Amino acid sequence: MESGKESMASRERPIYIVGNWKMYHTIQTSLEFLNELIPKVREAVCRIYLAVPFTSIGPMAKDIEENDSNIVIGAQNMHNASEGAFTGEIAAKMLVEAGAEFVILGHSERRRLFHEDNAFINAKVKRALTDGLQPILCIGETSQEREDGMTNEVLKRQLTECLDDIPAEQLENVLLSYEPIWAIGTDKPATPEIAQESHHFCREFLAELGGKEVADKMSILYGGSVKVDNAKALLDQPDIDGLLIGGASLSAVTFNEIISKAAAESGLEDVKADSDTAVEL
Ligand code: PEP
Repeated sequence: MESGKESMASRERPIYIVGNWKMYHTIQTSLEFLNELIPKVREAVCRIYLAVPFTSIGPMAKDIEENDSNIVIGAQNMHNASEGAFTGEIAAKMLVEAGAEFVILGHSERRRLFHEDNAFINAKVKRALTDGLQPILCIGETSQEREDGMTNEVLKRQLTECLDDIPAEQLENVLLSYEPIWAIGTDKPATPEIAQESHHFCREFLAELGGKEVADKMSILYGGSVKVDNAKALLDQPDIDGLLIGGASLSAVTFNEIISKAAAESGLEDVKADSDTAVEL
């Protein structure tokens, strides 16, 4: 397979730095985090997203509005139904009302611990698009699948099934995150070369699904043990358009250092952060 070096210059696409807080941070510590981060990132040239616990969405969105900040708040999951008898679940429109602008879907922790399959994730992606949330669709292979040489097959199946029946013009609004499961929370990130190879495979396959023009516009993020010291090398790859960060997003200091790496990435000066245009559904 080609390396992807001939791809559209990656900096023609915006860079996304996305934090996934998982089940960490209370409302109080979420607001303390924001208080620390907001002044540091006012001039950031990348799009800064934070996927936070449901309880923090409303207070954080309000704080961001009051401070006229460029940070975008989102959720880590939602149900596919518009409403209904689903005890303990949450609907897209409830997240939108609380101030969320995006939602992470298909994270490997949801797939593994809560048995979510591609069909369910596909229904959620469609609901998110219909109800005005930008989906961040996570895909990725296990270490066994990689060892068995199945990586591309797994990615192809996840993309085919999770994006089934989504028209090309809507695909552009989906952010994709390649997260090899063996790299999540393990301190064993994919090398930039391995990540680039998978990102390039995904982009070529997205072109089969929605056409080259759409695939070239789609942002593909990398997730899995991203830290301050590997962020820049990952962002240097032509098909890596951003980072989805778990552990290292929990501290405002570390998260800001990674945001600074994105700013140092060559050519980024032209891509101004603009949360108003981040979700154009
Ligand atoms: C994640 O939660 O999606 C993730 C990539 O976590 P970490 O950065 O901690 O590996």
